[in-house]
Amino acid sequence: MKTTRRSLLRSALAPAAGAFALPALSRAIQAATSTYQRPKLKITGLATAMVQVHGPQAHIRIYTDQGLTGQGESTDAAIGTPALIHSFSRFLIGRAPLNVDAIWEQLRRFGIFAGAQGGQYITALSGLEIALWDLAGKALNLPIYQLMGGKFRDKVRMYCDSDMKDPDGAEGQRKLPWIAEAGFTAMKMDIDDARDPARRDPVNRTATNGEIDRMVKQMRFVRDSVPKSIDLAVDMHGFYDALTGKRVAQAAEEFRLLWLEEPVPPENIDAMADIRRSTHTPICCGENIYLRWGFAELLEKHAADIIMPDIQKVGGLSEARKIANMADAYYIPFAPHCVVSPVGTMASVHVCASVPNFLVLEWHWINHRDLWANWVKEGEIIDKGYIAVPDRPGIGVEMNDEVAKRAQMPGATWFEHKT
Ligand code: MG
Repeated sequence: MKTTRRSLLRSALAPAAGAFALPALSRAIQAATSTYQRPKLKITGLATAMVQVHGPQAHIRIYTDQGLTGQGESTDAAIGTPALIHSFSRFLIGRAPLNVDAIWEQLRRFGIFAGAQGGQYITALSGLEIALWDLAGKALNLPIYQLMGGKFRDKVRMYCDSDMKDPDGAEGQRKLPWIAEAGFTAMKMDIDDARDPARRDPVNRTATNGEIDRMVKQMRFVRDSVPKSIDLAVDMHGFYDALTGKRVAQAAEEFRLLWLEEPVPPENIDAMADIRRSTHTPICCGENIYLRWGFAELLEKHAADIIMPDIQKVGGLSEARKIANMADAYYIPFAPHCVVSPVGTMASVHVCASVPNFLVLEWHWINHRDLWANWVKEGEIIDKGYIAVPDRPGIGVEMNDEVAKRAQMPGATWFEHKT
């Protein structure tokens, strides 16, 4: 037999087969000789804390054998998070945490028969994935955006959700000047109102002329009450039918809205596309759509002018970034929904910094300003309507447990963790 370089190598390695098979040997040589040593972390435990601020939010902590921890946050469908994190921990404890996307993918595949297409499963996985990114950043001494390809911008534009029940009454008179003075360049108001006396049927989704007149009056009041330089978005929370959606979108055209949000529920993408084609008012949706596959349908059907994945439930930071890049291929802007604490919001900032088509990020704690300003040790993170992209490792903010505990959900545990 002719001796080649390959056969020589094979014969030289033959006695070492088994424990020293080529892949294992190659890994051992690489580990021993690489100048670039990664920290060899192991996950030792996971714990959760549930809070109730804008709906239920779950905070997730990952503990490691070297004292480093990571923290993430999930929202809305977060109520099942403690039980799901407990079930994920059987897979995670003892594992190296730095291959974030691979861990996410394995947990998602494990859950295919357990609802891993959306809802509570993906929401819990989102919070866990954010905690893994925080940990990876701290372990590698880099901010998360740097691990996501770097940043396109140094600060992220925020919009203020005004969270008003009474936009053209006392509440509007109090909040609207504050939004302008705080320096926001965009805001959002709600126009759905189940208590509207003009409503004829408490169940159906059809707004009467009286209800539509009230919506237009409120939009006009808010539009005229804040400077023209502040963009105005309007939310219908998916409470109406396609007929109403079209009528409201057309009636709103004179206000040149930043967007009209979820005129109809999110399940029927064709109905959303039909409304979009009927109006010049930009249509935005996506806060109740999960994963790349949900957004692939939305984009392929040209159903939205702007997409708004909720990063704390859509699948996490990597998933949101992939969705933003998919949208960019359709020249569609990315304006994430966000109702979480400064921890989750700052995690979202890293994604917003790392994609070209970012438009604006939501801030929804106007009714919880004291909690917001003290929730993390860094204090207030919004300055004149923007958040500076942080250069600290990981997410870049640390929860002040004493303050956050004020919002603890009754009966829920607070980061109970066995070592
Ligand atoms: Mg909404």
